[in-house]
Amino acid sequence: MTNANARSAANSLRAQLVESNPPDLAQEFIAQLDAYYAHPSSSFYIGKLERRFYKQKVRHLAWKPYPEDGLVTFGASGTDMCDRQIFFKNSETKPEKSADEPFRGRQRRQGTAIIDFVQLDLIHMPARLGESAEFTIAEDWSTYEDDDGEEYRVKEWVFEDAAQQRKVFERNGVQFAITAKPDGILDYKGQKLIFEYKTKATGLVAMNGKLDFKGADSSHLRQVTAESLIFGINEGIILYESTEKPSWFSDEENKSVPKTRKTWADGSPKPDLRAFHFKITEKMQEDLLNDLAEQARLVYEETLPKMTIEMTGKCAFCAFKGHCKSQLTAEEKTMLIEAEQRYATSNLAGKYDHKNLREYLSGLDLEEASEDE
Ligand code: SF4
Repeated sequence: MTNANARSAANSLRAQLVESNPPDLAQEFIAQLDAYYAHPSSSFYIGKLERRFYKQKVRHLAWKPYPEDGLVTFGASGTDMCDRQIFFKNSETKPEKSADEPFRGRQRRQGTAIIDFVQLDLIHMPARLGESAEFTIAEDWSTYEDDDGEEYRVKEWVFEDAAQQRKVFERNGVQFAITAKPDGILDYKGQKLIFEYKTKATGLVAMNGKLDFKGADSSHLRQVTAESLIFGINEGIILYESTEKPSWFSDEENKSVPKTRKTWADGSPKPDLRAFHFKITEKMQEDLLNDLAEQARLVYEETLPKMTIEMTGKCAFCAFKGHCKSQLTAEEKTMLIEAEQRYATSNLAGKYDHKNLREYLSGLDLEEASEDE
């Protein structure tokens, strides 16, 4: 499947999601979180629960390689990568390591730290809220060996490493694997739900604007579709949290805050948490499996996927930019340059897609393309 087709498939997935989503589950979940964070004891942890939480983390501090079965393995959170990135990732190509903007390192660390506390908070909710905590982290038994080789069983909360699973699939004659470690499996009145959590650092107003306009991110929907295939759970919640919080007191009357930056409206703080309830259909799973099978096939056949304009929308976190640009054919370079020129003279000039393409072309030897022609 081309990236263009993948994008339209993602849009149609979103449409299915919106139609099939009763809004109440997400609202109920937010109501539970709000009740917890408003609780006077939410800043204090219960020693017994906290110790069990960290002991579980320590048990999983170990290197766990995939089985050596030679199969292309997709991480659930990486199922929205461009075809070329998957190709490089599964070839001998070494990821490019370069220094990043320091604040990005701090931002990544912030996201990693917050999810730990969201999980710790979720396991405290039954203790703090009693029976009104209807969403709890599921628990299951795990087996370990002690230092003397004796097996022992221990109950663990089903999130992160304790939840990790890898499953092999076959589509169109191609075998591949998907691995996932979700942010949690929730128990809701006896029903299991997949839980994914994402921080947003774009600011409160920008986060709400984007989620109102577009809903849950298409790459996050691909991730939970992959997880539904592994865990056999077709429903769940994606929770977004803005790392910017509303002003401590209302800023509505504060003249030094521009209208577009106000974090309160109509006497209430704007939401810093947003939840989306999703339901995964068989078609969504089939579409994803077909896409992944095609990407895996190109890896096994050692065929570098052709460059497309749409791929440039996925470059932001790619560690293979140099390799990708160095392996463009003269035709591909010409195609990209011509597309950029069309963008520059259209009403899309300077917009998202044009910016991505220009960013990709930056540093590329454009002279070489015209000489090759
Ligand atoms: S640089 Fe962009 S187009 Fe190239 S492999 Fe990475 S994501 Fe794909």
